[in-house]
Amino acid sequence: MSDAGTPIPGWAEKVAEGLGVGPHVVVAGISTSGHIHAGNLREVLVGEAVANALRARGEEVRFVFHADTIDPLRKIAPGVPESFERFIGHSLSRVPDPEGCHVSYAEHFLSPFEEALREMEMDIEVLRSHELYESSLYTGVTREAMERERELRGILQEASGRAMPEHWSPYMPRAASGDLTGNRVLEHLPDESKVLFVDRGGNEGAADYSEGEGKLGWRVELAARWKALGVTFEAFGKDHTSRGGSTDTADRMAREVFHYPVPGRYEYEWIGIKGRGDMSSSRGIVLLPRDLLEIMPPDALRRMVLGRDPARRSDLELGEGFPRFMDEYRTSKGEPFVPFNHLLTVAQTVGGDLEAAAVMLERGGYGEAARDTERLARDLARARNWAEKWAPESMRLRVLTQEEAREAASELDGEQREYLAAVAGALRPEMDGETVQDLLYSAAVERGLKPKKAFAAVYTVLLGKKSGPKAGPFVAGLPVEMVRERFSM
Ligand SMILES: [Zn+2]
Repeated sequence: MSDAGTPIPGWAEKVAEGLGVGPHVVVAGISTSGHIHAGNLREVLVGEAVANALRARGEEVRFVFHADTIDPLRKIAPGVPESFERFIGHSLSRVPDPEGCHVSYAEHFLSPFEEALREMEMDIEVLRSHELYESSLYTGVTREAMERERELRGILQEASGRAMPEHWSPYMPRAASGDLTGNRVLEHLPDESKVLFVDRGGNEGAADYSEGEGKLGWRVELAARWKALGVTFEAFGKDHTSRGGSTDTADRMAREVFHYPVPGRYEYEWIGIKGRGDMSSSRGIVLLPRDLLEIMPPDALRRMVLGRDPARRSDLELGEGFPRFMDEYRTSKGEPFVPFNHLLTVAQTVGGDLEAAAVMLERGGYGEAARDTERLARDLARARNWAEKWAPESMRLRVLTQEEAREAASELDGEQREYLAAVAGALRPEMDGETVQDLLYSAAVERGLKPKKAFAAVYTVLLGKKSGPKAGPFVAGLPVEMVRERFSM
């Protein structure tokens, strides 16, 4: 279904081959403590490519997005009011939405990402961790963790080289205040699935872990989750896989405590934005998946974010190299397409006028594209968005108003004016782009005018610039009456 036309990349095929016979559960896990940016998308796309590669091998696959909604709020995200400090330590699913538009803080950041996944027609199940805890998915592994606290503690101490706090517990019960982080576990009641604890204020309480009244600490949860969901593959960013990092401890916990085989793994590198550096929520360089879907179709986004090999760092090319990327992407699809630069000219010339765009494309020699109006509307909107937000100044076009054109025309000399008048007289509505190009050229030659100077006159009265897109198709796309008027000023 999703991405059906895109070939499975070689690296994903190799991973799938190594995973062997299923059934398989591929998981991507992402925090909902702030914007889920396009860099995070790489993790999901690596999972998707591997899931697709497994499916292509005839394997049964469940592809899961584990949204960490039960996690405690650690630090308020940029732009969130300071008053939210009082929710630090509370589950993200229980903190209010800072903007009031969703049911929780977690949902406020998860929802746009989920919407982007839907728009990409990704075959993925989005699971919210607070719901998994509430529906008892973690009950068995929590009991195991509580019973083997000593071994878990030992693994963490060895990995960090530091003694764990005396009252450390793999489980974080939720106090009546909502706080998950400041409580001390006193006793485990395995038959009742409960832990007894004392909170910061000295109040005693009981948390039923089969009801989601708390959660496992993050490092333990990672290993426990593999077992609870039956995970066979998970991709990790380089920050997790360093020595003593979270995958190091989770691997040992899986083997030695939960007796669960360590899932297959792929380490991916970060992506940046060309010319702007790494993407980072904390430094405010955040690009959301929807910002990218605004300028390119989902499969182009997959291609760009994954790069040739996600184990290598890559930079998203959203500036002047973007048109070439789009043309390469279209070429790889093997379908006829309008070169991006031409589409860009059309999009910026006609605005939202689909009929005018179709005429302009037809006369430019791209009649086939002009007839698929639904796709054309989407492509034009994306090209327009790119022009507005990312295009370098030299690629931005705006056809001058009559007033502006009159002023621009005052720069022209007599030869140029005569040339434009001659073209205006010969121009016919039925001429296509190439014919107009010939006309513009031959009219200059006939008058002994250098073509460069002639074309500069054309661009001056239409765009207020000395150069622009290929003149023939551009002029052919504009209403003939308008061109005649501008050429006779
Ligand atoms: Zn919201």
